[in-house]
Parts: sequence; C-alpha cells; structure tokens
Amino acid sequence: MLGDEGIINLLGAGSLLVIIFLVIALIQKMEKIKTLQAAVNKLQKSLDEMDEQAKLIVRIDMELNKTQEELNKKISGLYALQRLSREISTTLEESQIFKRIDVDYLNDMGFEKSCGFLWNVGEKKLLLKINIGYSLDETKSIESALDINREKYSELINLIRNKKTASSISLSDSALKDWLKQLFKVESFIFSPILPKEGDTGFLFVGTENTETLINEGDEELITILSNQLGQALENARLFEKTWHAQQNLENKVGERTRDLTNALKEVKITSKRKTDFISSVSHELRTPLTSIKGYASILLTGKLGAVPPDIKERLDKINRHSDELVHMVNELLDIARIESGRMPMNKQQLNLKEIVEKASDLLSAQLKERGIDFSSSIPNDAKAVLADRSQIERVFINIIGNAIKFTPEKGKISVNAHKAETGIQVDITDTGCGIPAEAQEAIFEEFYRVDNPINQVAKGTGLGLALVKHIIEAHGGKIWVKSKLDAGSTFSLILPET
Ligand code: ADP
Repeated sequence: MLGDEGIINLLGAGSLLVIIFLVIALIQKMEKIKTLQAAVNKLQKSLDEMDEQAKLIVRIDMELNKTQEELNKKISGLYALQRLSREISTTLEESQIFKRIDVDYLNDMGFEKSCGFLWNVGEKKLLLKINIGYSLDETKSIESALDINREKYSELINLIRNKKTASSISLSDSALKDWLKQLFKVESFIFSPILPKEGDTGFLFVGTENTETLINEGDEELITILSNQLGQALENARLFEKTWHAQQNLENKVGERTRDLTNALKEVKITSKRKTDFISSVSHELRTPLTSIKGYASILLTGKLGAVPPDIKERLDKINRHSDELVHMVNELLDIARIESGRMPMNKQQLNLKEIVEKASDLLSAQLKERGIDFSSSIPNDAKAVLADRSQIERVFINIIGNAIKFTPEKGKISVNAHKAETGIQVDITDTGCGIPAEAQEAIFEEFYRVDNPINQVAKGTGLGLALVKHIIEAHGGKIWVKSKLDAGSTFSLILPET
C-alpha cells in the first residue's frame, strides 16, 4: 500500500512527465510554426515577385499600345503622303499645286495647321501659297511679321538656303524656335524648304497646337518628302509652262508662215496665170504675121510673082526656115501655156511603149545614122503597156532622143530601157554625150534655159523642149528627172502611168 508520501511522489513524477511531455509538444509546435513561418515568407516573396511581374506586364502593355498608336499614326501619315504625292505630281498648273494639300491630308499626317510660302521675284518677298488652320487676320499678321522682322526673316531664308528640314525638336536656335511657335501659334512644328531646280524657292510649315503630340525624326522625314514633292511638282509645272509657251509660239509662227506661204502661193498662181495668158496671147498674135511672112516668102520662092535672083532666093529660103523655127517655137509656147492652164487635156489610152520608141527612133534615124550613133532599146513585156496620150508621148520621146543625138559626139551610144517601178513604168534614156553640170540639172526643165556649152553655141535650140516634156509628163501624173556626169553622159528618167 502506498502512503501519502508515495502518492505525492507518484503525483509529482506524473506531473513531471506531463510537463516534459508538454515541453516536448511545445518544442514540436514551435518547430512547426517556424517551418510555417518560413513557408509564409516564401509565399510572400513569390507574391511580391508576381506583383512586380504584373506591374511590368501592365507597363509593357501600355508601351505596346502607345507604339501601336504611333505606328497607326505613321501608317495613316504615310498613306496620306502617298495619296497627296500622287495628286501633286499629276498637277501641271503651278497655282493648283499647293491647293492639293487639304486639311484631311494634314490631319492624317498629325498636324492641323500649315502655311506654304514661295519667293516672288516681282514683289521681292515671300508670298503665302497655302493656309490651313489660320484665319485671314492671322495669315495677314504672319505675313506682316515676316515683312517687319528682318532678322528672323533672314534666319528663315538661311534655313531655306541650307536646304535642311528643321523642327521644334531639331532646331538648335531656341530664340528662332520660340519666335516660330509664337508666330504660327503652335506647340510643335516642322519647317521644310521647297527647292525646285527651276525658278523660285520657298518653304512649307506644318504644326500642331496639341501639347501631347511629340514630333520625331519620322515626322520630319515625312514632311521633307512632301516638300521635295512640292519642289518637284513646281519644277515640272514650270517646265511644262515653258514648253507649252514655246509650243504656242511655234504654232503661232507656223500659222503665220503658213498664211504667208498661202498668200505667196496665191500670188505665184496669179503671176503664173498672167504669164501663161501673156504667152498665149503673144503667141497667137505672133502666129498670124508669121504665117503671112512664111506665105509671102513661099509665094515669092515659087517664082509666080516674077523671077527670083539667086541671092534673093537664098534670103527667102532663110526667111522661110526662120519662120518655120519661129512657128515651131510659138507652137511649143502655146502648148506649154495650154497645158499649164489645163486647156490641153491628155487623151490617155493604152499604148505600146515599144511602138512609140520605135517610131521616134525611125523618125530620127537619119540623124542617128549621120552621126554614127549606136541606138538600142530594151522594153520588157511587163513594162510596155502605158496609159498616155499618143501624140504627146511621141513628142516626149522625139524631144529627149533628139537632144541625146544633139549632145552626143559621133560614134556614141544611146539606149532606151524600161522597167516596172513602184509608181508606174520607168523609162531611162541614156546617152554617152557631153553631160550636164550638176547646178543646171534642174534648170534645164525650165523654159528657155540652155546650158552654156560649145555645142549649144553652134546647135540651134529654143530651150523650150524639156519644159514642154516636163509639162506633158506631169499632166500624165508622172515625173521626170535627170542624172548626169560631165563628159560622161546623161540619163533622163521618166515615170509613166501603166495600164
Ligand atoms: P534645146 O535643146 O532647144 O536647147 P531643151 O529644153 O530641149 O532645149 O534642153 C535644154 C538644155 O538642156 C539644152 O540646151 C542642153 O543644154 C541641155 N540638154 C538637154 N538634153 C541633153 C543631153 N542629152 N545631154 C546634154 N545636155 C542636154
């Protein structure tokens, strides 16, 4: 049995055990609390870190939004510039170029105010060409401020001369910067020179009152491009105007000359008609007395009016011959006049060129033989049918071959060759005669022109034959020309219409 002391000891030991147990439990709790505290601390740290991250994300997001906004602004500015550039570059009237810049384009580029000035030589000052966002009074005061403040004015002129864009961020001269801000009533601005190669220069000013708008290099670049476009367009317009004026002058001159020439042509036609009328009336007048002279001479020569002594006969023969020659000449003159005035229609019919040439050579065979000239002709079948007036074309060949005989020395050669050409049948009559100097090759087709050479001094001639030939050929719608070399020979070529 336990006594009281034992019980007390037992209780004491028990209490001790409980205390020890409690202490151990407390220590364990404390350990747990510590671990928990550490975990809480860790958690707190992570939370702080997350908070930082979140803040960063918000910041980045804001920045991204801002960049996006700026980018949008830039894109719409670029679009506006592109559209505006197209309009400006297709404008060829100087006064219209600045008018292409309107308030919408300006807003899209981030500005709401603009002024453009160009130097005016006559007035010797900068004149306003564009005004957006300013009242009439405001522009007047800007103009007069530019007029009055010579110092600032010359600083602006220097900026233009330096050919550099300046802005409220890049302009180093702060006094000038403030003056410009005040003058144009803006917070930010860009000032860009307009520099056409032709004519007067100037500047474009754009600005905004918006304090939040921050101008950057990109904006400066945009406005520089715009002012360059303006310069280029002004240059084009000025060149166009110059060219247009030159063309106008030229057209006026051409008009004047055409009128002069038409008048001259009228006069030539009148003179030519007068000449033709004169020749034809004189020829008519000459023919009658000539016929009687020849008639009397012939009667006298017959001896019906009495015996004619030999020396008188000789003279009468001369009168007869000369009268014949004169009649021939008068007839040729009359024919030329008739063809010129259209009073001698060509009776065109299908002819065989071979026959015509043969007939001419037959008629002239005595002369050919007498001078020992070798005559030949080559007229191929595809070039023998021509559409012409028989008697007139015979005249043409007799004339040309007759001349060839006259101007070709003895034992020379004459050949007639025909071929099909583009515009008709071409006939070439070639001789090995004395030739025609280059300077006379056109004149020989004029009336009374004869080359001054030894043959012509002896041989008879009127200088009318080729003129008549040319008129006949042209009346057929053909043409005639000559190629010749002195002392080598000549080739007369003519084109006749084919059937
Ligand atoms: P004409 O023979 O009566 O003088 P034409 O009008 O027939 O007049 O010829 C004008 C001139 O052209 C001739 O005087 C001659 O000087 C030159 N001419 C014409 N045909 C020839 C030729 N075949 N060779 C050299 N000169 C020629």
